[in-house]
Amino acid sequence: MAEIPIPKMTDLALGGKRVLIRVDFNVPLSDGVISDDTRIRAALPTIEYAIENNARVILMSHLGRPKGTENPIFSLDPVATRLAELLKVGEVTLTDACVGDGARRVALDLRDGQVALLENLRFHPGETENDPKFTKALASLGEVYINDAFGTAHRSHASVVGVPAHLRKKAAGFLLEKEIAALSRLMTGVEQPYVAVLGGAKVSDKIEIIKNLINRVDCLIIGGAMANTFAAAKGGTLGASLVEADKLALARDLLARSESEGVKLIIPSDVVAATSPDAGDAEVVPINGVPADKMALDIGPDTRAAFKDILGRAKTIFWNGPMGMFEAPQFAAGTIAMARTISGQGAFSVVGGGDSVAAVRQAGLEKGFDHVSTGGGASLKFLEGKVLPGIAALQP
Ligand code: ADP
Ligand code: MG
Repeated sequence: MAEIPIPKMTDLALGGKRVLIRVDFNVPLSDGVISDDTRIRAALPTIEYAIENNARVILMSHLGRPKGTENPIFSLDPVATRLAELLKVGEVTLTDACVGDGARRVALDLRDGQVALLENLRFHPGETENDPKFTKALASLGEVYINDAFGTAHRSHASVVGVPAHLRKKAAGFLLEKEIAALSRLMTGVEQPYVAVLGGAKVSDKIEIIKNLINRVDCLIIGGAMANTFAAAKGGTLGASLVEADKLALARDLLARSESEGVKLIIPSDVVAATSPDAGDAEVVPINGVPADKMALDIGPDTRAAFKDILGRAKTIFWNGPMGMFEAPQFAAGTIAMARTISGQGAFSVVGGGDSVAAVRQAGLEKGFDHVSTGGGASLKFLEGKVLPGIAALQP
């Protein structure tokens, strides 16, 4: 991935041009009110740069999953209002639909430095299907294409791969560029020692990433429910913990592989176990001796200290996946400790994954990370070593 040069927005002439910018404005809404505008703010540098360079800015995004039909609940109207406030441009015109006469008129009427937002791309089934007719209609609105939506870069949708196929002048926006730069530092020319911390619910979700990282890292730390399967593969008794019985052979294989390649694969020694996530009977037990009626729901204090020790020597750290069921406060300590350890360390540090990033934000520790990836699925695909379609589509 890192070898492919990504065209930069700063190399394109934007003045007087209709510039289609794919952004990720998929913000959380509650009763029509934006509850977190982080994603809108994240796109501001790119939008402001385009405005300052006299582009005629046409933004496009999806919001939620309207499944190809118009649905006012998923209108980008509140986003247009919020964006206008943040940009201080007076007005952001929202089109009636993302394609068609209305959108065309708005696009052609734009003057230099003005901003329009196309209504939700996913009101049209052509977006997720990358339908050629839809793609052509969308592409015809602009003359230059910028992708600044890392969160959808792993999807072969019309606005991600179809539109750039029609437009010769295209580039990555600043947010996408930043994501690629940070994640590439975890893939090639990595400063050693490199420690990856993987957690979360299932080994099956993370197989590809483990396989790709195992010969790049010095040490792979495994926590969360995923560690249970590895502990069981080593012969431990896991009680009622989440264990993927069909992944035991794979876990054994990965343990053997790490040994033969001289990579440390570290799993927890102790866990916090309880009969259920809201039971009052939580206790610290060895991971290989969880009582029959209890399940491992967080990493224990010895494990937190051991992980901290390993991470203290790292120069590069990637973290994905919570260390426990952090949504329940009594099992959040291991995940918060991990966030504290990494954020307090001098290494180049990146956290990616929807739940992991949410945990870091919840603990208010984002500032301690060099990069907090805005794309859950996309960052994982990138670290699996896959070429993301949205990035490939920017090649001339
Ligand atoms: P990310 O979104 O950061 O990639 P995942 O989606 O893979 O992370 O995993 C997050 C989920 O894993 C959370 O819902 C969390 O509750 C769950 N989880 C982590 N550890 C455990 C555990 N020991 N038992 C049950 N669930 C767990
Ligand atoms: Mg998740």
